[in-house]
Amino acid sequence: MSKPPGSAASVLVVEDSLDISEMLKEHLTRWGYQPECAGSVVEALQMMHRRTPQLVLLDWGLPGGRSGIDLLKKIRGSRDWAHIPVLMLTARAQVDDRIYGLDAGSDDYLAKPYSMRELRSRIQALLRRSRRPVDAAAGGEPEVDEGDPVRQGIFTLNPADRTLQIGGENPVSIGGPEVLIMTALLNNLGRTVQRQKLAARMRQRGLEFNECNLNVYVSRLRKALGARARQLVTVRNSGYRLDP
Ligand code: CA
Repeated sequence: MSKPPGSAASVLVVEDSLDISEMLKEHLTRWGYQPECAGSVVEALQMMHRRTPQLVLLDWGLPGGRSGIDLLKKIRGSRDWAHIPVLMLTARAQVDDRIYGLDAGSDDYLAKPYSMRELRSRIQALLRRSRRPVDAAAGGEPEVDEGDPVRQGIFTLNPADRTLQIGGENPVSIGGPEVLIMTALLNNLGRTVQRQKLAARMRQRGLEFNECNLNVYVSRLRKALGARARQLVTVRNSGYRLDP
């Protein structure tokens, strides 16, 4: 049996449709990854305990009364697994569902039908982002953004632990893409940051960029801003501005 080199990333495919998981397995193998397939949340958990995958491709609708979102929450709530990038594959293309999936902690979201080419580039991007060595046993810091805290006005952004603090309030956790966007907004406080500029920064960091993703990240950021959400202004046909 010819196996890809040991350095090839292990990918856990969690999908109840045998046709789809066979097809994914075939492609992943051809691309040089080491795929394993699980058909349910229970099976996926058993496999993850045996071997921690480097990436999870996760179907939303799974049998046995536990959905992909349940598994996602388990992964994000585990010290050993929280750093694993998760790409949700789903038939649900509604923006609300997409936001829900991202809110629950998925790193990216691909709606069926998707092309294999697109899937491959998303996988590559997620693995690039997570390639930073992670000491899982020490509860290692999951990918993206390093650097010193950014303080502007009432806002303190701490990229190291991905928290945003407003005034004297408790810091809130935000996602990697939001850290990136917030950094740009804070460094240009009161000035408009062009969408293209944000897009370029996101792509530089291996984040998939499209209009929908950016909208999702910005809406998550507004949620994190709470009562200050209105200070994050959408500048029509241009970009975003954070008011001091
Ligand atoms: Ca399914």
